[in-house]
Order: sequence, then structure tokens, then C-alpha cells
Amino acid sequence: MPYPHLFSPLDLGHLTLPNRVIMGSMHTGLEDRARDFDKLAAYFAERVRGGVGLIVTGGIAPSIEGWLTPLGGRLSMPWHVARHRKVTRAVHDEGGRICLQILHGGRYGYHPFSVAPSRLKAPITPFTPRALGARGVERTIADFVNCARKAREAGYDGVEVMGSEGYLINEFLAERSNQRHDAWGGSVERRQRLPVEIVQRMRAAVGPDFLIIYRLSMLDLVDGGQTWDEIVALARKIQSAGASLINSGIGWHESRVPTIVTSVPRAAFSWVTRRLKAEVSIPLITSNRINMPAVAERILADGDADMVSMARPLLADPHWLRKAREDRAADINTCIACNQACLDHVFEHKRASCLVNPRACHETELVVTAAASSRRIAVVGAGPAGLACATTLAERGHAVTLFERAAQIGGQFRLAMRIPGKEEFAETLRYFSRRIEQTGVELRLATEATPDALGGYDEVVLATGVTPRALVLAGAERANVLSYVDVLQGHAAVGQRVAIIGAGGIGFDVAEFLIEPAPSPSTDIARWAREWGVDTSLAARGGLLPPAPAPAARQVWLLQRTPGKLGKRLNRTTGWVHRATLAAKQVTMLGGVEYERIDDAGLHIRIDGQAQVLAVDTVVVCAGQQANRSLHAALAARGLRGHLIGGADVAAELDAKRAIAQGTQLATTL
Ligand code: FAD
Ligand code: NAP
Ligand code: SF4
Repeated sequence: MPYPHLFSPLDLGHLTLPNRVIMGSMHTGLEDRARDFDKLAAYFAERVRGGVGLIVTGGIAPSIEGWLTPLGGRLSMPWHVARHRKVTRAVHDEGGRICLQILHGGRYGYHPFSVAPSRLKAPITPFTPRALGARGVERTIADFVNCARKAREAGYDGVEVMGSEGYLINEFLAERSNQRHDAWGGSVERRQRLPVEIVQRMRAAVGPDFLIIYRLSMLDLVDGGQTWDEIVALARKIQSAGASLINSGIGWHESRVPTIVTSVPRAAFSWVTRRLKAEVSIPLITSNRINMPAVAERILADGDADMVSMARPLLADPHWLRKAREDRAADINTCIACNQACLDHVFEHKRASCLVNPRACHETELVVTAAASSRRIAVVGAGPAGLACATTLAERGHAVTLFERAAQIGGQFRLAMRIPGKEEFAETLRYFSRRIEQTGVELRLATEATPDALGGYDEVVLATGVTPRALVLAGAERANVLSYVDVLQGHAAVGQRVAIIGAGGIGFDVAEFLIEPAPSPSTDIARWAREWGVDTSLAARGGLLPPAPAPAARQVWLLQRTPGKLGKRLNRTTGWVHRATLAAKQVTMLGGVEYERIDDAGLHIRIDGQAQVLAVDTVVVCAGQQANRSLHAALAARGLRGHLIGGADVAAELDAKRAIAQGTQLATTL
């Protein structure tokens, strides 16, 4: 047994779980419409077939007031039960267990009916909540209990009470958001009354043979958050109230410390759960940035927790557990914590999926079937688009040749993985290397595909990607003007004072590459916590200390022509982390810049008509990309058609999410 702790069963009294993984709650968007419940059932069933023993659904509101978004998923009425039965039946048919997460959005509710302990608007929503009266609090407790009863009726094995992340219950617990002076606020005991009453009354209503998981905020990471002593006292009360397990919640959504993005070190918060282990006797679940079996095994073996929760890693690879059990960790399609197709979609009110696995939440729609007949197919370019397309085509039974002009696979993704905090991206290329071997793709590295070489194939797919846009400016030909490719590949020396032209995703990444002294803080939990101000001694309220960023390795100016704040188009849930990182390292970010020339004095610019010279020794050009389609035109001249995917198709707004999804989709149709 390769991971003995991970695969040791957990006896919870009335049921035994087969392993120590819980599929954590993850909103997918499929919970919100009755018509999508068949798709939701298929999504969960696939994860159970892959070895998941216990699932927690995405958050379901116990009332309209508790909605996260208008018309979001809710379980409060008798007619809501039937749709949930589809989900529980599908999971049970495959031998799994499933709990419903009851989530009351509180002041995070993105609608005008939101409620909270006090009338205080959250910094992340435009709606000011209504303060619940004493009767409103009683009604809310009854709503939670009613929801749990209905969950039982719908066949769920239990519920998870969402008590963290800054939602309603967490809002009652913290001084920051609870300024009441009645029976539900004022002292610690009164602030803690709401969750205790909920769990107590829920246990009385559902009986002993039903799981109640309580998601407890172990680290609020906001000013005016709870103290560690308060958290310990609450955990003990929740245990006495009848909870079966306690899950770890880290940070509020409004917190300015990243908690799950890729630059957060793996298992960055399991030390918090470990601290609570000494205080309670019911099993504890730890979570956040646990994405590979060795990490999970180490946490369990060290005794930090009794179970590990993973949500995104099981979106990325539904068969994660089966592969771990068979000692095939290298075959796992690892979650790279990019948030691009999961959390970003949810915040944009779109259905979630996964950058590295576009089938996630589309199990019934993006189906990979055996090809009617095997054909010879050439794929040109082994970037994300070509890799996804070639391996899916070969999986379907086609004879696939993959041409790559570089000595290694990966395309631009290989540059991305050099960025501090994006080290995880290497896992995707490891995964695709394995898929190439397993599916039998014939990989021709260091081979430029030419129209002659492509003549004899039944189909040709062009995944030739993008080329950096050249800078048109006096002095652009100077030796100290570099492309981001040269910089990231380490082919050019970079000075101490650097101007970056272009502040898109790549400009930001290159700035981080230039300012961050190696090794990156994402590989060192203690250093990362210090830099972001996480109090690992747990002495400070909310677990927050003043951030202490290490000095920048260089002085950097990041520039764009568009006026206004930089980084507006960065991804929804991760852009703020990049902006905060650069600000902490004193990168000068300038918008509304006109570039004039580069000479011995440096980069000459003009802002609001005012001329300035940035006395830099290096200029790095990150001015966007252009599609590389020369081969497409050459093939067309011979009457041959090539299917264009990824950056070769459209360079604007390109990312690996689109490249992989487009490559996979095309492969299912050829
Ligand atoms: P490419 O990755 O450009 O691959 C094209 C491949 O085709 C190359 O390997 C090239 O050598 C090969 N090729 C071209 N012509 C030929 C030929 N004639 N014969 C043989 N081979 C040929 N995206 C995200 O989604 N999230 C991120 O966080 C992110 N960060 C990034 C950070 C950096 C620093 C960079 C540079 C990019 C980042 N990206 C990110 C963008 C992402 O890497 C690209 O969107 C993605 O790689 C595009 O995939 P593609 O397959 O279309 O093209
Ligand atoms: P981009 O986002 O289009 O940014 C290009 C930058 O160059 C802009 O700041 C633009 O700003 C500037 N620019 C454009 N034309 C210029 C010109 N002729 N001269 C000078 N400046 C010019 O492209 P990118 O940064 O190259 O990134 C490419 C893709 O990779 C992006 O679409 C992104 O999705 C993806 N990516 C994603 C991430 C991520 O974290 N998700 C990270 C990196 C890359 P002005 O026009 O205002 O000057
Ligand atoms: Fe993980 Fe990114 Fe996929 Fe989300 S989209 S599950 S963060 S790899």
C-alpha cells in the first residue's frame, strides 16, 4: 500500500469511510437550476467511480435570505427534495456517500434580500444587508434545521454546516461584523450562540445516524477576526453540540491574504488544524492546497488531521484516488490552483470547469468515444492546445504524430512554470508526458513541421501557438531591449533597474520573476506566512500580523499605454494577489504611458504630456502576442486544410484554458 494513512478506513460509528479524503464543497453552478441536476449527478458519480468515499456538495441555501446569488441553489421546500434525490441516488449507486453543504451567504449574498448580524456592508459586495432581529435569528436557526431534515429526506448521508469563510455564521462569531448587544452579540459567548444552537437543534432533529460536519473558521485572516482562544472554545462547544467532524476553514472572502491560489505553498495551513487536534476529540479535516497524494499522506502521517479535504484536485482529476491507490501518482492530472475555470467562473456566474480537465462539470456533454475508424492525424505544436488534442485523438484510437520544434513539450506553458508561484504548472506537463506515452502518440521533438512533412496525413491540426509582438520604437533594436522569452529562458542578462513594456498577464508575471529572489516563497510555508502577515504563533486576533515582504531583487517599472490602474484584466480571483505582490515589492506601476525612445539614458516616456526618463539598464517587452499561422497559409496554398486551435487560431485573450478546451473539443469530433 503506497499511502497507508491515506487509505486507512475511518470509523464514524454508524458508517465507515474507505479512505481519508473528503471531496470538499465546490460551487459548480449546476446546483442552481433543477434542469442541471442530472449533470450534477453525473459529475459526482464519476468522482465516486474514481474512488472518492465522501463528497460534500456545493453550498445550498436554507432560505431565500441565505442565497448567495439570486435564484441560487436552495433546499427549503418539499418540492426541492426530488431533484436532490437524483444526486444522492447516483452517488449511492456507485457506492459513495454524500453530504449537503448548508451555506447561508449572510452579508456576502449578492442580492437585495441579504441579512447579517449587523447592518454592515461587506467590502466585496454592493449590497448592504439588513440586520436580523431576534425573531429573524430564530427563524434562521429553524431554516438550517429544516434544510438538514430535507437533506435527510433527499437521501443525503449528512450535512456540512458552513461556519467559515466570512458567511453568516462566521459573521456572528467575529467582532468585525457582529456589533449586536442582544442575546446574539456583545460577548464571546453570545456571538458563539448561533452555531451552537444550530448544531444542537439539528442533531436533535436528524438523529444520531446522520453526519453533521461543521466547517469552523480556524483562521479568519481579517482585522477584528476571532482570537485562537475563542476558536478553541467554539470547537469544544460544537463537539458537545453533536457535530460528527470538524472541517477547517481558512480566511474570509474579503481577507487580503491569499489562501488557495497557486502561489500559496502546498498544505500551507495544515499546522492550524494540528493545533486544534489537541483540543477536541472528534475527527478533524484539514484543507487548502493539498493536491498530491504524498502531501496528503504526510499530513495524515504527521497527525495534523484525521482527513484531508480536496475540492479542486478532484475537479481536475476525478480518478485521483484510484490512481493514488494503484501507486500511479505520476498519472494524476494535478490541480495547478489557477482558479481560472473553477472559482473565476463561479464569480462570473458561469458553470465551473477545470483548466486542465475541460470535461469537469461537462461529463455528459464532452464525451470521449472511440473513433469510428482509425486515421493518421498530424498535430503541429506541443503547447497546451496540441498536447490536449493529440492525446485525446490517440485515446480515441487515431494514429497521431505530434510535431514540436523545441526540444521539449509545453510551448508557452514551459515559460509560465518558471514564474515564482507558478511552479505547479510543471505538473501539467508531467501529466501530458505520461499521457503521450500511454496513448501511443508518436512525439517528434526538435522537429519543425513543414508542408512537405504534412502531406500524407488524413487530417492536420495546427497548434502552432503565438509569437511575441515586436516593439516598434526608436532604440528597440538595442542589446538591452529583451523579449520576455529571452528573459524567462535565462538567455539574457537582466540589469538591476528594469522597465517592462506591457502590463498584461505576462508583464505581471515577468515583474514577479524579476523581483522575487529565489527560491520562491511558495516553496517555504514559514517564509510565505511572514511575507503575507499570517501569524503562525496564533497570538494575534484574526491570525494577522503586519506583512513583512522580503526586499525586491530589482527595481522594476511596469508600464502600459492604457490610462488607469494596471491589472484590471487579470483573472477575477487571482489578479488582486499579483497586484498586491508587486505593490509590496515597490514595483512602480504606471498607466497612460506614451513610449518615445530608448537610448543610453534609458526609456523616454511621456505621461499626461510630461516627459520623463526612466534610467533603466534593461527594457523587457511584454507587448502581447500574434498568432503563428504561417504553416496554415502554406498548406492552403497546396489545397490542404489545417484545423487551427489555441493561439494559432486566435491570439487575443488567449490562455491555456481556452487552448486545452479547444484542443480537446476538436479531438472529440475528428
Ligand atoms: P503555445 O503554448 O505557444 O505552443 C505552440 C507550440 O507550437 C510551441 O511549442 C512551438 O514551439 C510549436 N510550434 C510552432 N510552430 C511549429 C512548427 N512549424 N513545427 C513544430 N512545432 C511548432 N495561461 C494561463 O491560462 N494561465 C496562466 O497563468 C498563464 N501564465 C503564463 C505565463 C507566462 C510567462 C506565459 C508566457 C504564458 C502564460 N499563459 C498562461 C499563457 C499560456 O501558456 C498560453 O495561452 C498557452 O501556452 C497557449 O497554448 P498553445 O498551445 O495555443 O500555444
Ligand atoms: P495581453 O494581456 O494582451 O497584454 C499585452 C500588454 O501589452 C498590454 O498591457 C498592452 O497594454 C501592451 N501592448 C499591446 N500592444 C502593444 C504595443 N504595440 N506596444 C506596446 N505595448 C503594447 O497579453 P500578454 O500579457 O502577452 O498575455 C497573453 C495571454 O496569456 C493573456 O491573454 C493571458 O490570458 C495569458 N496569461 C494569463 C496569465 C494568468 O495569470 N491567467 C498570466 C500570463 C498570461 P497597452 O495597450 O495599454 O499598452
Ligand atoms: Fe485546479 Fe485550475 Fe482546474 Fe480550478 S481550473 S480545478 S484551480 S486546475
